[in-house]
Amino acid sequence: MSRIFQIIACGILALTILPGQGQAQQQPQFATTKVDGTDNVYVFRYRGRQAMFVVTKEGVIATDPIGYGQPEAVPTYIDEIKKVTERPIKYLLYSQHHYDHIAGGKPFKDAGAKIIAHKRAKERLAVLKDPATPLPDETMDQRKILNLGGTTLELTHLGLNHSDSTIVMRLPREKIIFLVDLIPVGTLPGRGMIDFYPLEAESSIKQVLAMDWDRLIPGHPGVPDGRLGSKKDAQDQLTFLQDASDAVKIAAREGKCWESVEKELKLPKYSSWPNYESALPFVLRRYCGLWGRGT
Ligand SMILES: [Zn+2]
Repeated sequence: MSRIFQIIACGILALTILPGQGQAQQQPQFATTKVDGTDNVYVFRYRGRQAMFVVTKEGVIATDPIGYGQPEAVPTYIDEIKKVTERPIKYLLYSQHHYDHIAGGKPFKDAGAKIIAHKRAKERLAVLKDPATPLPDETMDQRKILNLGGTTLELTHLGLNHSDSTIVMRLPREKIIFLVDLIPVGTLPGRGMIDFYPLEAESSIKQVLAMDWDRLIPGHPGVPDGRLGSKKDAQDQLTFLQDASDAVKIAAREGKCWESVEKELKLPKYSSWPNYESALPFVLRRYCGLWGRGT
């Protein structure tokens, strides 16, 4: 290995690239942060993905193992929890079925955590048979309330949106939600559009806006600076999706889907969003699927 390559390789290990920022940020590979104003709500970030965990008197509620393509993140996550508390990890919740967030959870299962997910996530994971990604021990449909050691966590499935198995996780006392990928914070949705349900997602975001919460922990660090989201971010995302949908609908009815829309349609109002150039084609393609194909 040449010296230059070694330096570059080390540099890659030391840097984290946050989604949509288009440039490497000098920051540690992983970090655990207590959410301001709470006693017991934490965010574990590994590279560009993150999950929430809650420490209660009777044990820990963890979410999303975030192990896809980075299996070392999972034991690191468990070690980070152990630095905060000696109490057992009682639950591991899957926010949806998408692998970037929920693959690789076996070390949590081995540590005794009970895995909960939406029933559709179990059906999808059962087909894939990934030995590193255990099936849920328990599934839910529309709603479930989890109570542990004085903490209440409300789990709600709003139907089809970012996926068909996404759960909104809300801490009513703390007025915090953990919601993965349905409402990106400060960025456009990108590859997540591949199996996105456009009309239903708009309806779901409106329902999320109607819930009682102040802060949103996203599944990828908010832009800029890893910030949490607000209701304004949720409204901005809804407006973006509606603008994209309206623009593609007009073009689609002129017969411009797919190629000319993907190459030529622009939404300049959003050009300052950090991943505008890379993510916009995914968004346009998905809305061409809706308005130019009927799907
Ligand atoms: Zn996803």
